[in-house]
Amino acid sequence: MKGSRNFAQSLSLTKVRSKAGKTAVIGWMLLQSLLMSAPAMAQARESLSYTGLLKKIDAGEVERVEIDEAQNVARVRLQGKSKTDPPVEVQLLDRNPELIDRLRKNKVTFESDPTADNSVVVGLIANLLLFMLLIAGLLLILRRSSNSPGGPGQAMSFGKSRARFQMEAKTGVMFDDVAGIEEAKEELQEVVTFLKKPERFTAVGARIPKGVLLVGSPGTGKTLLAKAIAGEAGVPFFSISGSEFVEMFVGVGASRVRDLFKKAKENAPCIVFIDEIDAVGRQRGAGIGGGNDEREQTLNQLLTEMDGFEGNAGIIVIAATNRPDVLDSALLRPGRFDRQIVVDLPTHKGRLKILEVHARNKRLADEVCLDTIAQRTPGFSGAELANLLNEAAILTARRRKDAITMLEINDAIDRVIAGMERPPLVDSKRKRLIAYHEVGHAIVATMLKHHDPVQKVTLVPRGQALGITWFTPDEEQGLTTRAEKLAQITCALGGRAAELIIYGEDEITTGAGGDIQAVTSIARQMVTLFGMSDLGNVALESMGNEVFLGRGLMPQSEYSEEMATKIDQQVYQIAMQCYEEACKIIRDNRELVDRLVDVLMDQETIEGDEFRKIVQEYRDSRSQTANAAN
Ligand code: ADP
Ligand code: ZN
Repeated sequence: MKGSRNFAQSLSLTKVRSKAGKTAVIGWMLLQSLLMSAPAMAQARESLSYTGLLKKIDAGEVERVEIDEAQNVARVRLQGKSKTDPPVEVQLLDRNPELIDRLRKNKVTFESDPTADNSVVVGLIANLLLFMLLIAGLLLILRRSSNSPGGPGQAMSFGKSRARFQMEAKTGVMFDDVAGIEEAKEELQEVVTFLKKPERFTAVGARIPKGVLLVGSPGTGKTLLAKAIAGEAGVPFFSISGSEFVEMFVGVGASRVRDLFKKAKENAPCIVFIDEIDAVGRQRGAGIGGGNDEREQTLNQLLTEMDGFEGNAGIIVIAATNRPDVLDSALLRPGRFDRQIVVDLPTHKGRLKILEVHARNKRLADEVCLDTIAQRTPGFSGAELANLLNEAAILTARRRKDAITMLEINDAIDRVIAGMERPPLVDSKRKRLIAYHEVGHAIVATMLKHHDPVQKVTLVPRGQALGITWFTPDEEQGLTTRAEKLAQITCALGGRAAELIIYGEDEITTGAGGDIQAVTSIARQMVTLFGMSDLGNVALESMGNEVFLGRGLMPQSEYSEEMATKIDQQVYQIAMQCYEEACKIIRDNRELVDRLVDVLMDQETIEGDEFRKIVQEYRDSRSQTANAAN
């Protein structure tokens, strides 16, 4: 949208400039006459006529003459007057041929000084200032009007062709800069060969593909990959975002597609990258309120363009999306985007590689272990990892250290996952309750065999949360067992269980709201997706069943009312069983919980190892007393 606005500005400026110019001239004249009249009045004390001056020169009564060509006056100092006296002013004629001759003849010093009158300069500056002020005002008005949809700014930009795509002659990105998505990289290696040595393929009659679709969530490096292909092949990189195509006016998107491909053909071989292709490439004739003419036209134009050139024309179109399911099937037909490459979120190993790439230009302390970071960041995309290291670097600079340490990195991770740190809680009954809630989560997790270990428990508020318990995720197995899911639910309910047992039913808080939501969602998935309940192995809902525009409006429920009731019962049963277990763990370890809460209240944060040490000490002392009793 930004580009069209700029264009509208420059277009209308030329139209208004003549008017603005006129106003500026009037202002200039006013200012100048004011400025000029001042010195004229001050100096009109003694006067002399031109002929009078000539006579005085001949008579040798003149010591010095200063000719001001701008005002066409001569300032005359007579013999015997001091330098501080104001000179006599003589109005000169248009041409003064004798004056110079006479001055020379009589050896009078004279000088001609056209810049002595600075009022012209002042006037000019004033003029310029006024003009600039006017332009600024105009720009402001224009910007405002183009913000309102359909305003004059928009109307003026309509139908004009403008370069809304970017072109990079050299991206400077190589495959080495893309890490952790090896499969995608391998598949795309071939595209580089298509661009560099098309003969190799055409010689054996192979048709070079025209389009590659990169599918993956945001930040996984799709743009980076496309740039790397261009960089490796040494060809220009054209890019545009699908959302840029979708405009107010029908036909604008289509003309943009035409422009883009025209430029690309002139620069072939090259890469054309279309980000967010789902913005234009959605299933046609679907969505709320019928089809969208503009989008359909744009899409049709895109298809026409792609059909219009042969693969060996040297243009390869790479498109990116995270919603391949909504794409129009025409886009995926052979001869268009017939290759689909999935760009996944990186695995542990992938994250380590990405961190290595981005650590290249950062100064890390020796103690920093990238592997630990990779372990703490499951689910992070490449972009998030890059951002993480950058945040850590900023923190390091803020703390005036010379190298990034693990402290900054951990703070940055916490910040990315849970939000900004907030001021600490004041010691109060409320803070103690929060401590019990968090220790509740942590102790239940520690007592359960199938739960991830506690990484730390903290009462430092962050984002929405007043206290947080962090766990070290067990990595990369890809599969979760039923026991693990149940452990997750039980642990999530540990907070509420502690509130209830320590403070009683009347004192439980809204703080457990998020926990309960998570519990319900996990339990529901167990029942409806994974066949982990008494209802058996039936898929009652489909994976990723969300509402989106472009296909059906309502999610299809795949079960009867009766089944819905059964599902609810199952979910309830799972939640209640887990809750009882959580309560039991808290009750059985009440003394330990109290001790942990005291420590937490005292030091705000307990690291996982310290937590487990306290738990172990408690267990040891208990078994000793048990032995003594025997
Ligand atoms: P996408 O196009 O998939 O949304 P980008 O390619 O724009 O993601 O990624 C944004 C940034 O994140 C990149 O410029 C790069 O710094 C970083 N990044 C993402 N994935 C990777 C990766 N696999 N290797 C290295 N850096 C990555
Ligand atoms: Zn909680």
